[in-house]
Amino acid sequence: MKLNLHSRFLLLFGTIFVLGGAAGYQFFVWYSDEVLTILGQRFAERNVLYEKSKILGIVTREVTLAQKMASSPVLRDWVAAEDDPLKRQRAIAELEDYRSFFRSRSYFFALAASGNYYFNDDRGGHALDQPRYTLERLLQKDGWFFVTLEKVMDTQLNVDTDRHLGLTKVWINTVVRDKQGKAVAVTGSGVDLSDFIRSAVSSELGGATNILIDRNGAIQAHQDVSVIDFASVRKAAGKESQSTLFDLLDRPHEADALRRAMASLIASEHEVQTLELQVQGRRQLTGLVWVPEIQWFVLTMTQPDAVNASSALPAASLFLVVALGLVLLGAAVILERSVIRRLARLDGAAKKLAEGNSRPMLNDSSPDEIGHLTRTFKSMSERIANYTEDLERQVAERTATLEQMAHTDFLTGLLNRRGILVRMEAERNRLARSGGKMGVLIVDIDLFKRVNDTWGHAVGDLALVGVARVLKDSVRAYDGVARWGGEEFLVGMFDLGSFAELEAVAENLLQVVRQARLDCHGVDVSLTYSIGGVLADATESLDEMIKQADDALYRAKNEGRDRAVLTHFLPA
Ligand code: GH3
Ligand code: MG
Ligand code: MG
Repeated sequence: MKLNLHSRFLLLFGTIFVLGGAAGYQFFVWYSDEVLTILGQRFAERNVLYEKSKILGIVTREVTLAQKMASSPVLRDWVAAEDDPLKRQRAIAELEDYRSFFRSRSYFFALAASGNYYFNDDRGGHALDQPRYTLERLLQKDGWFFVTLEKVMDTQLNVDTDRHLGLTKVWINTVVRDKQGKAVAVTGSGVDLSDFIRSAVSSELGGATNILIDRNGAIQAHQDVSVIDFASVRKAAGKESQSTLFDLLDRPHEADALRRAMASLIASEHEVQTLELQVQGRRQLTGLVWVPEIQWFVLTMTQPDAVNASSALPAASLFLVVALGLVLLGAAVILERSVIRRLARLDGAAKKLAEGNSRPMLNDSSPDEIGHLTRTFKSMSERIANYTEDLERQVAERTATLEQMAHTDFLTGLLNRRGILVRMEAERNRLARSGGKMGVLIVDIDLFKRVNDTWGHAVGDLALVGVARVLKDSVRAYDGVARWGGEEFLVGMFDLGSFAELEAVAENLLQVVRQARLDCHGVDVSLTYSIGGVLADATESLDEMIKQADDALYRAKNEGRDRAVLTHFLPA
């Protein structure tokens, strides 16, 4: 298949549009995905750091307060002698003092020796100096106390329901130690869980949720209270099954990644980690930080959809495709106007030139290569046109010259035999239609041989030229005079009125030559000639006329030369 430039460029641009558009779109999708991923990660990192600072704000104060309370000498004194009324009174006053600073306006104080559990909050209604109940090692629900005494160095947060009192709280458990460092009591406060969840878990950033987990992944705070792992402290110690974040993950390998991230955070390798997790069927972009102060992780989960701009993708890619299309269209139009159309015009002109139209209409004044080519082509074709015309004129001139030469006698300049025959035949035809007559005279120089013999051939030639001029000057301009051959001439007279007219012409010719002095290179040559003539209807044959004139000439010679013998045409 042959394609012209136009179609080729159209094909090229179409291909660029399709391939370039597809590649550009792919790149665009990939690139925006990359950018969105990075942006999402940044977003998640900022988010989780912000949430961490917020939670720390809530918790640190409570923890510090609890630790301060645990180190109170008044409380330590009381632990050593629980039943001492004075010490008890002073200790209760101290606890009440601390209570007013805690967020929940509550405290607890549990002694290792007796297992007595003292508690007070704003509800009151009980004797402050009496234990609310006594903790028992064998009761599972009291397990947290004994684990804390044995395992916790300082402070541990624990989400649990106090089954005796029916309070679900984030408990801040701080160990009280005597002078020897022995754990003698556990004291602290409890932040109401719903209060805690409200202020720590619910994020004010749209689409984000916070989850708090402990170092084992047990969920400590979650918007969905049902997934919270209560009494994690006791369960972890007793290897009981726990409600962990890992249970909520749909993909096992993501749980491993989460574990690695948690380990690297605890080891302080990173301040913050981001992961994409499939949680209960939803993709969650997760930011993760370790809060050593409370020994919990803060996770901030965001639906990637909430941060990415994939909804803008179709519009953006449409814009991309349209922009590419417009650019290519523009390029095609420019190419069409600036190159293809002009080349096609040049091509058309070249075809016309090849067909013979050598003056193609072309105008291109642009200073570029095509303009230059067009102007060069134009001037070239004009030169070809001029050259062709010149050549044709010359050929015509030469043809005319040749024609003339073919019909002209070289020596005398008269018509030659062929020239006079053509002329006579034309005149005869014309006269034949009008019913006219014509006369034919054959003039033969008398004894011309002697001229040559006496003065040479050159003088003879000049004499012939002189006779020719004499003959030419003596007849009407319209009559035809020719050199018939050698020293013979033929005079054709057209539209002749009568035989007498012919006789008069012949007599005049004889007269004129007798009187003529032919100057031939200083030699005065005088000559006579004999004439044979015929008067004929133009309808008769030219050959026959000439033949009868020739016969008459023969008689004129025989009768003594220097005379004319004229006859009427005798039809054969
Ligand atoms: P006649 O009266 O019987 O015609 O005698 P003539 O000598 O003229 O006739 P002839 O036919 O015997 O001789 C013709 C001569 O004309 C012979 C030739 O040399 C001469 N002649 C013919 N053509 C030319 C020519 O072109 N130049 C010259 N110089 N002489 C010519
Ligand atoms: Mg002769
Ligand atoms: Mg002669």
